[in-house]
Amino acid sequence: MASSAGVAPVVAYVAIGSNLSNPQEQVRLGIKAVAALAGCQMVKFSGLYGSPPMGRKEQPDYVNAVMAVETTFSPMQLLRELQAIEIRHGRVKVVRWGARTLDLDLLLYGDERIEVPELTVPHVGIAERAFVLYPLSEIAPHVTIPGKGKVSVLLQQCPRSGLDRIA
Ligand code: AMP
Repeated sequence: MASSAGVAPVVAYVAIGSNLSNPQEQVRLGIKAVAALAGCQMVKFSGLYGSPPMGRKEQPDYVNAVMAVETTFSPMQLLRELQAIEIRHGRVKVVRWGARTLDLDLLLYGDERIEVPELTVPHVGIAERAFVLYPLSEIAPHVTIPGKGKVSVLLQQCPRSGLDRIA
């Protein structure tokens, strides 16, 4: 576990997605695993949403949610912790945009903009993807996505694209 002592907490938003092995349960377990990280404290989480797959169509529908945490991890530490949870939950990366047991993406880290080879924050597509923006707007309509605008305003321009709130 990476050390996180002495760092002022930042509110970060994490997207959770799954379309394999009981996706609703995977998403719930993913939320619990992130909340249990030593450097993270749960703030809130959205309901669960069902969405048709983006990219490759020959795969099951997805279940998606978004959670907010207060974190003392640096952005890169948090990314590493999220990737470790994905692996613990049986994620095997076979093809880009292919089926996955658990996908955890760092959407926002405070109001920071980060552009390094391993990490882009705000997450690519955050402002246009219904399966990210709708759950995010449920818990953070007031938040401004750096370089994009306020979540509640972006939502008005985002078609649901088959997204369904399921739980
Ligand atoms: P994915 O298959 O969507 O989980 O993408 C994983 C890859 O995206 C990894 O190589 C990450 O280093 C990279 N990546 C870049 N920005 C982010 C982000 N904000 N959150 C999660 N992964 C990211």
